[in-house]
Amino acid sequence: MAHVISNDCVGCGSCISECPVDAITEGTPYVIDAATCTDCGSCALVCPVSAISAG
Ligand code: SF4
Repeated sequence: MAHVISNDCVGCGSCISECPVDAITEGTPYVIDAATCTDCGSCALVCPVSAISAG
């Protein structure tokens, strides 16, 4: 499983530096590489608009 970023993403970039495996790519919305994500949940904790959820 992997976490997923919804269209609620406002592109703030807060999540990128939190990912220990560099699975997040900039965009609108930002995208998590499902093959790389370890489901740690670190990104979801810092998202200001709660756009990241467990997939
Ligand atoms: Fe990276 Fe963890 Fe978020 Fe997956 S859940 S994208 S490993 S920070």
